[in-house]
Amino acid sequence: ATPTALLVATGRAARLGILIKGASALESTRAVDTVVLDKTGTVTSGRMTLAAVHPREGVDRADLLATAGAVEDASEHAIAAAIVTAARQELASLSQVQDFVALPGLGARGVVDGREVVIGRTSLLATPLPEELETLRQQWESHGKTVVAVEWDGSVAGLLAVADTVKPTAAAAVAELRKLGLRPVLLTGDNSATAHAVAQEVGIDEVVAEVLPQGKVELVQRLREQGRVVAVVGDGVNDAPALATADLGLAMGSGTAVAINAADLILVREDLLAVPDAIRLARRTLGTIR
Ligand code: ADP
Ligand code: MG
Repeated sequence: ATPTALLVATGRAARLGILIKGASALESTRAVDTVVLDKTGTVTSGRMTLAAVHPREGVDRADLLATAGAVEDASEHAIAAAIVTAARQELASLSQVQDFVALPGLGARGVVDGREVVIGRTSLLATPLPEELETLRQQWESHGKTVVAVEWDGSVAGLLAVADTVKPTAAAAVAELRKLGLRPVLLTGDNSATAHAVAQEVGIDEVVAEVLPQGKVELVQRLREQGRVVAVVGDGVNDAPALATADLGLAMGSGTAVAINAADLILVREDLLAVPDAIRLARRTLGTIR
């Protein structure tokens, strides 16, 4: 494309809420055939709310919420924010956490009121969930909730359910991607049942769930080895390595600085329709010239 055509395209993109970093990004955008979408904060709003609290028999509900809130107060995760907000609304005060450790893609741990607390995916727990809680977990997950387990001193204390909402235009954006001949894939560190519930809601049938940040990179590498030209759309710290590995990285403008730095395109609006917009624009700008 001529410099003038590129300049015009960059201006058009900006009006569509798409910031392009460098001229070569437009070339990769045109060639993309596979779009890997992160779930939390990309397909969903990422503004999570606490939907349910279920203490194990013998555990006090307020104690469960206060202890979980104390650990999560030190975390930057969207799940943590939901739990802390609810805990502050319901309770007079939260305890302080000591020796806090974030476990990316899994959860967090720390010491609260002398107890060793672990919070996050059930895979972090020292023991399997008791049957009653396991049943509840499956029920919540099949409804698209993210289930957070809480354990202290090596025994399960209860479950929390966190709810997120799919962005209003996410399904329309996926339909547009298909019309453009692209293959959409949903990628998440969240559990498989929750991921499938969200995928179904937006019309994606290919789901890769329960992956750690490095697993996101490996998926991109695998697709590229199969000859696919891969775009990744993400927002989190956990998406940054995959954004950098992809042929084209697209970061949500609302996302973390590391994700924005790793990306080639920045989507200023929350709206995922900017993804098919960008691809259509790149095809139009470069398609006729070469
Ligand atoms: P995603 O890929 O959907 O953006 P992450 O990779 O950040 O999600 O996290 C994957 C999963 O790890 C979450 O769905 C949650 O179950 C668990 N998790 C991560 N951080 C926390 C936390 N601070 N508190 C509770 N659970 C967490
Ligand atoms: Mg995310």
